[in-house]
Amino acid sequence: MPRFGGIATFMRLPGRSAATDLDVAVVGVPIDIGTSNRPGARFGPRGIRSESVLIRPYNMATRAAPFDSLRIDDIGDVATNPYNLADAVARIEAFYDDLLQNDVIAVSMGGDHTIALPIMRAMRRKHGPLGLIHVDAHTDINDHMFGEPIAHGTPFRRAAEEGLLDARRVVQIGVRGTGYAADDFDWSRGQGFRVVQAEECWNRSLAPLMAEVREQVGGGPVYMSFDIDGLDPAYAPGTGTPEIGGLTTPQALEIIRGCRGLDVVGCDLVEVAPVYDPTGATTLCAANLLFEMLCVLPGVVCSD
Ligand code: MN
Ligand code: MN
Repeated sequence: MPRFGGIATFMRLPGRSAATDLDVAVVGVPIDIGTSNRPGARFGPRGIRSESVLIRPYNMATRAAPFDSLRIDDIGDVATNPYNLADAVARIEAFYDDLLQNDVIAVSMGGDHTIALPIMRAMRRKHGPLGLIHVDAHTDINDHMFGEPIAHGTPFRRAAEEGLLDARRVVQIGVRGTGYAADDFDWSRGQGFRVVQAEECWNRSLAPLMAEVREQVGGGPVYMSFDIDGLDPAYAPGTGTPEIGGLTTPQALEIIRGCRGLDVVGCDLVEVAPVYDPTGATTLCAANLLFEMLCVLPGVVCSD
């Protein structure tokens, strides 16, 4: 079958496996009613699956061979509720609780960033307090948005309050732009999170940063949450709340490759909105970053 033929699963995986037979489950979470500006991330999983057909199974840079080492399949989407965010969050949480009855790592495609909260709740129940590597233009630690405690700008505030995170093992990378107050990023620092603003990343390799991050977040379960708007809009325009001055694609690769060796128990790639992505560059980038995540999961052998 040519790459452009057939039913589009992530990376043309069979899409027929039961979770009981997998080491890694790729899951779509199509929802965007948690967004505050441009919607469209509900089409993220379909867009990513479509662009992912180009990706080949071997990583030529790291020599990782995830499909030789682990049983991986695309198990489809969570049945979300496009009219009721609270119900959608409950459905996502129940889906992951059920999935994590198996000894499986979930790799999730958003959807807006709201999805990280119910996923992390399920991960916390299975693994205990989580270390977190959060890449984003925004810290997503708002207390409320329009009076609502659950939205795409609040998941890490709720996660901290609910004890989902091991605060000393949390790092937020790439945050930038304009805020509502000059000390907006200091709430995270007050929790004990490390906050790496985008300006600290400009014009340099992030490999040294990631060596420090591995020291900080190692020694326990780690969740990785990657908001595509962490990248500069030059690389990833197809998202709801773009911010200039962001990370480059090579820096995104350095961040994910720098997670190798950590006990990554789950990860997500969120906020891809294909309607603002006429060339497909954002979705192609997202699909490749998800492949790079597969390449650093525990148990993946690099053939060197
Ligand atoms: Mn976000
Ligand atoms: Mn963001």
